[in-house]
Amino acid sequence: MKTKESKILATVDALADDIIDFAGRLVREPSTLQNEASALLVMEEQLRRFGWAPDRVPIDPAALAAHPGFATVPWSYDGRYNLATTRPADGPGGKSALFNGHLDVVSPAPFENWTTDPFTPVIRDGWLYGRGAGDMKGGVAAMTYALHAVEKAGFGLRAPVTLEAVIEEECCGNGALACLAAGYDAEAILIPEPFGPKIYIAELGVLWFKVHMRGLSCHVQAAAVGTNAIEKSFPVMAALRRLEETMNGEARPDPYGDLSHPINLNIGIFQGGDWPSTVPSAAEFHGRLSFFPGTSYGDVCRRIHGAVAEAAQADPWLAQNRPEVEFYGFASEGHRVSRDVPALATLNGCHRALTGEDAESYISTCTTDLRAFHFFGQGAGTCYGPVAENIHGADERVNIDSILQVARAYALFLSRWCQLAE
Ligand SMILES: [Zn+2]
Repeated sequence: MKTKESKILATVDALADDIIDFAGRLVREPSTLQNEASALLVMEEQLRRFGWAPDRVPIDPAALAAHPGFATVPWSYDGRYNLATTRPADGPGGKSALFNGHLDVVSPAPFENWTTDPFTPVIRDGWLYGRGAGDMKGGVAAMTYALHAVEKAGFGLRAPVTLEAVIEEECCGNGALACLAAGYDAEAILIPEPFGPKIYIAELGVLWFKVHMRGLSCHVQAAAVGTNAIEKSFPVMAALRRLEETMNGEARPDPYGDLSHPINLNIGIFQGGDWPSTVPSAAEFHGRLSFFPGTSYGDVCRRIHGAVAEAAQADPWLAQNRPEVEFYGFASEGHRVSRDVPALATLNGCHRALTGEDAESYISTCTTDLRAFHFFGQGAGTCYGPVAENIHGADERVNIDSILQVARAYALFLSRWCQLAE
């Protein structure tokens, strides 16, 4: 390794405590959907401290409505924004890079399953605990300090580098899309999602839907004449479960051939009724279904409509009182990434320089903001991030050494891809 690179890596190591402290300060802000403001302020203050003036990039649903990557959502974007900043090049000759990380987190409920408070960062046995510690505030700290370390080591860069911290990764990707539409893009995209220091080579499509069920309410003493909307949901859910099994059994594109159950349906919200002694007249459930790269979003929507119609056909009440299907949130198609493109080959070279081995490949059964850059951006990208456990569960944690490892790899990547300016 060259002397300059060693100096940059030593600078990352000297910043280790600051990196973990920053990750913890982000974890302390409970940035669930529509509550991202305080985490964004912590991020903004940090960027300013490093001398990079961030833009607040709003999500304008009217302006983005016609964009093919935009996902319709029922909530408001008033007063909400993403942060993006581009450090300009200090000279010619390098290639541009963009680091993307999301600050939104999923709900930690139920709180009683946590050993310690989910929004109080706690370090134990080399791990940082808290909601969002892994997914993905640890990675956001790593990418931010990777760029800072290059500067602090006394170097400039021969290409622009963009840092962006976005919202709504966990529900639709409209935050990353808004930044891309605002012009934030680069030749290499790196996202430190917590799938480990691996090169992410494929992700599935993901969509969200909801189904509204009607029943006929009455007092439970006359239940025979009522129709229970909650119980009428069961055959509809069963039909969707059969669709999931059918999709898993169909021909699979590479690299999904060997995975045991890549396509997953999750019913994540169920609501209905308001009284134990009243037959409920309405119920609603919300689900998430994944699908292989190469399958269109519209096709999967049609298959969901088909599964619901099949269940309705088999039930006289449902045949007369059709469940209504609606789509919102994720409308993401899957895609594949080639490890051979220059940006990923360079990243792998950095990983090898630090560990002595090639980075493993990672095949994802979920989705990330990488999709926006893949389908609508100019560059090539991947996810390469820390090691985390229990993301979306209780006692989420991220391995501290792995955060530092990502910061080192990203700093090295900047020096090789963007090229150092003295
Ligand atoms: Zn994430």
